[in-house]
Amino acid sequence: MTSSPYAWIEQSLETIHRAGWYRQTRAISGRPGATIECDGRRYLNFASNDYLGLAGDDRLIQAAIAALQTYGTGSTGSRLLTGHRTLHRELEIAIASLKHTEDAIVFSSGYLANLGAIATLVGKRDLVLSDQYNHSSLRNGAIVSGASVLEYDHCNVQDLKIKLSQQRTHFQHCLILTDSIFSMDGDLCPLPEILELAAQFECMVLVDEAHATGVIGATGAGCVEHFGGRSALDTSRSSAPVQMGTLSKAIGSLGGYVAGSATVIDFLRNRAPSWIYTTALSPADTAAALEAIRIVQQEPQRRQQLWDAVTRLKTSLHHHAHLTVLPSQSPILCVQFPEVKSALAASQALQDQGIFAPAIRPPTVPTSRIRLTVMATHSAQQIDRLATAFGLL
Ligand SMILES: *Cc1c(COP(=O)(O)O)cnc(C)c1O
Repeated sequence: MTSSPYAWIEQSLETIHRAGWYRQTRAISGRPGATIECDGRRYLNFASNDYLGLAGDDRLIQAAIAALQTYGTGSTGSRLLTGHRTLHRELEIAIASLKHTEDAIVFSSGYLANLGAIATLVGKRDLVLSDQYNHSSLRNGAIVSGASVLEYDHCNVQDLKIKLSQQRTHFQHCLILTDSIFSMDGDLCPLPEILELAAQFECMVLVDEAHATGVIGATGAGCVEHFGGRSALDTSRSSAPVQMGTLSKAIGSLGGYVAGSATVIDFLRNRAPSWIYTTALSPADTAAALEAIRIVQQEPQRRQQLWDAVTRLKTSLHHHAHLTVLPSQSPILCVQFPEVKSALAASQALQDQGIFAPAIRPPTVPTSRIRLTVMATHSAQQIDRLATAFGLL
């Protein structure tokens, strides 16, 4: 019997096809924005994480070009060897200023930031409590850390409390992990209650601000600011959470960060393998992110435009009684469908009308849905076109 050791992969792909879970890439041409071009056709874009419309902004592009000309394309090494530029430090200081924390550290992606931070904060003798809907990078960070991992029901502080009461004393350190805005649902974590439990049970908290940075909070600092104002961000308080985020969503570039107390950040610089053993962020991405943070801080009107657009779409969707719109406190609005097929059909129907809004299906999420993301650069007319198209589904 000689069969290829890879034969099982073909069978697994078959299964993926049969379940309707098969995924494919689609090439977008031109600059990103409220409309995008795909396969020679223009679409209204309701699938981007570029909430403030900065990824196609001339100022970011010019900053990236200037950095390319000064520093070249690659950073050539890890931050502790030849990869470090003053630009990286400037970006970290800008992030700490945006987040109102003592310090920040920049990783090459948000995914790497989570892997590195979690594996540095906890290990074999420790416990991780993780919201069941947390992003893949938080879940995998917990696995990589070697800590014991328990999931608590989505946003359920009662369940979190029960698990802490039963388990906390068996472990040395404990880390609670949560998305702030949940990436596939658009709802917000109950941060004040989580922080209260963390104080009671002596736990660290890492909150993933990927979809919140630049989007919520009085100055765009994210969910921690949204809930607590600046006092909650006082990093001299021993209970202040560790915040991570990405530079690839509202910031319009690439890279990830962790922001927090000087002590935590210093420790990550000395221990986080996904920061120490990987090449530093490229000069162009670094410069673009730095410019974006300047814009986030100096142009609060972009955030206002974003929220105006969110309110407009939410109001219109709620007028369609036949739609199941998931609860959301963010620019992520999900319309739920009973099965994979109907979600895919709805996405196709929208596409036929020139609207790009993909179906998100299992195994990414438990139930199939159309996931819409609103941008500051969507006009009222574009929002209305989407709402009308939904009315016809
Ligand atoms: C996108 C995302 C990440 C990963 O960030 P990248 O910079 O894209 O690697 C982490 N957490 C959440 C919640 C995200 O949505």
